[in-house]
Amino acid sequence: MTENNILDSDITYLKGVGPLRAELLKKELALSKFGDLLYHFPFRYIDRTQFHKISEIIPANISVQLRGKVVKMETLGQGRALRLIATLKDDTGSIQLVWFKGIKWVKQKLLLQQEYLVYGKPAFFGRTLTITHPDFEKVDSGFELGARLQAVYNSSEKLNAVGMNSRSFNRVIALLLPKVSSVLYENLKPTLINKYHLLSHVDALIKIHQPSSLEEIHKAQLRLKYEEFFFIQLRLIQQNIFRKEKIVGYIFPHVGAKFNTFYKEGLPFELTKAQKRVIKEIRHDFNSGRQMNRLLQGDVGSGKTLVALMCMLIAVDNNFQAALMAPTEILAQQHYNTIVNFLQGIEINIGLLTGSTKVARRRVLLEDLRTGKLDILLGTHALIEPTVVFHNLGFVVIDEQHRFGVQQRAKLWAKGKQHLPHVLVMTATPIPRTMAMTLYGDLDYSVIDELPPGRKEVKTYHYSDAKRIALFGFIKKQINAGRQIYIVYPLIKESETLDLKDLNDGYNSISREFPKPEYQISVVHGQMKAKDKEYEMQRFKRGETQIMIATTVIEVGVDVPNASVMIIENAERFGLSQLHQLRGRVGRGAEQSFCILMSSYKLSAEASTRLETMVNSSDGFEIAEADLKLRGPGDLQGTQQSGILALKIADIVKDENILRYARNDAKEVLGDDPQLDKEENKDIKKFFLAQKKSQPNWGIIS
Ligand code: ADP
Ligand code: MG
Repeated sequence: MTENNILDSDITYLKGVGPLRAELLKKELALSKFGDLLYHFPFRYIDRTQFHKISEIIPANISVQLRGKVVKMETLGQGRALRLIATLKDDTGSIQLVWFKGIKWVKQKLLLQQEYLVYGKPAFFGRTLTITHPDFEKVDSGFELGARLQAVYNSSEKLNAVGMNSRSFNRVIALLLPKVSSVLYENLKPTLINKYHLLSHVDALIKIHQPSSLEEIHKAQLRLKYEEFFFIQLRLIQQNIFRKEKIVGYIFPHVGAKFNTFYKEGLPFELTKAQKRVIKEIRHDFNSGRQMNRLLQGDVGSGKTLVALMCMLIAVDNNFQAALMAPTEILAQQHYNTIVNFLQGIEINIGLLTGSTKVARRRVLLEDLRTGKLDILLGTHALIEPTVVFHNLGFVVIDEQHRFGVQQRAKLWAKGKQHLPHVLVMTATPIPRTMAMTLYGDLDYSVIDELPPGRKEVKTYHYSDAKRIALFGFIKKQINAGRQIYIVYPLIKESETLDLKDLNDGYNSISREFPKPEYQISVVHGQMKAKDKEYEMQRFKRGETQIMIATTVIEVGVDVPNASVMIIENAERFGLSQLHQLRGRVGRGAEQSFCILMSSYKLSAEASTRLETMVNSSDGFEIAEADLKLRGPGDLQGTQQSGILALKIADIVKDENILRYARNDAKEVLGDDPQLDKEENKDIKKFFLAQKKSQPNWGIIS
């Protein structure tokens, strides 16, 4: 399409922007085209007719709007403590406004005896009521002419420095709207618009920037949120439909000797109902003639790996190869050990390929893989390298799916020959349903919602350093009773040396407290060679060491049933899903297990909520919901690579209901008209295609 769309024009050419600001807008806020600016929505609105009286302020962590005169200004302190303090006075009292940054700029703007509208969060500083870095606007002759409701835009310090503050956004967008409104068109159909009494697309885009009432703001937001979700869901669901209708898959009709022998003789326990159900769902897909793309969710320890293994056996029984890709060497090695162990006595060839597989071994493996002698290949992302060629890959399992980028996954898919292989992706820790709908809405969904019987709930405690002596006593008791202990230190990539110091300090104090030869200690961290890590893991696994000191490299998958205590140092530095994952390393054997979260005494409110959540809940799905609510979706695992959750206005936590409606509507529309070819859907289609074109990275496997 060569149509010259004004929405694609460079913002440099917009009046009031110019090259310097344009450059910064690109860098700081990723705004480069007219269309980007149009979708740079305000994050709040000022109602210029509403204000509080200073005497009635109760600091409660909420923002207030005041109207008063600046009666005094002074600069105090120096260096970092340098600050500008202005006193604002109204009929009822006075309050201090404080700036630590941008003092020069504020001094120029703020005039004595001038009236201002001031917005910010009041707090007591000692006994003085203050607002730090408030927004302010002059109340002068122009003020009364301004709109009652004024949009407030996200800007940045650098942008402010070149005069691109929230008010400049207002001005620039006021110039933009008349230019672009003629090319905007309705992108939904009347039935949907009427169903929820939505504003039109054009109206919503104008009103979101220039509302004249609170109700208008609300309606504009509703319309734009709905629309945002609707088009995401449309894309996901269309991919799913397309796959089901068009992408032919291998058929695995038999449940053969290997599966049956393992099921009847090899399996040391009864499958849970949930495991059986999921295997059935997958078998159904294997027989459908269509390529399977399925997400398997289940809590830590719910037995996902076993389900994956049994499905790999079905593939092998049908003379296909299967592969399992894990995110780390430790985990790949662990899967290999577990699976080889499970499959003793069954005639099957299993290989392990990782970055540290020796050249000679690798050559043999790759040869066997190509000729079809190898049945199952396990490994890390080494599996996606071009030299890895399968004879007939029929089924791919991707473990801890969030750690792989979309690209990496797609490369593995592409290794099928005649057809794409069936794909099962598994999450390490559960993610909330709404999140799954948005991130993996194109996949079919299975869940293991039941833990194997006999698991005792892990008892979780939160201690501060004051309890350390008591903790040592507890560890000793556990070791004397034959148990093993994990002690985990946080790992933050950016400063691995710093983390290593924490770990080394920890090691020193632990080895003083637990001296050789009575006690043996293993250490594993990310900077060790894979071989050395594995050696230490195995020593611990065999029970030759009682304490395992590690960074989060042990987070995923490690399985040592005799380990019954998980101690997490600086627990406040971990996210909830990571804490839950770590806790899942214990409680795998018959003994009562414990998880002890160590933290400093002083914690942020968010950190203490996190630790409290851990103490109170052991349900991964519940914890995932709490995590989503605490942190917002932007930080959750897996979202960075996907980019899908870079939502402009909707919020998958707060707007969960809108998401559900939008998803159902998208399903209905496509169910009736999968290619959007009907006349009634032509506007939807037009917008859909335009969006697809402007966001090419979005597509998943096509
Ligand atoms: P996940 O990958 O979901 O975290 P795993 O597959 O690693 O869980 O299983 C956790 C542990 O539970 C393993 O030791 C596994 O052998 C065991 N397990 C799996 N399924 C069952 C079952 N039905 N009954 C008893 N133990 C089971
Ligand atoms: Mg697992």
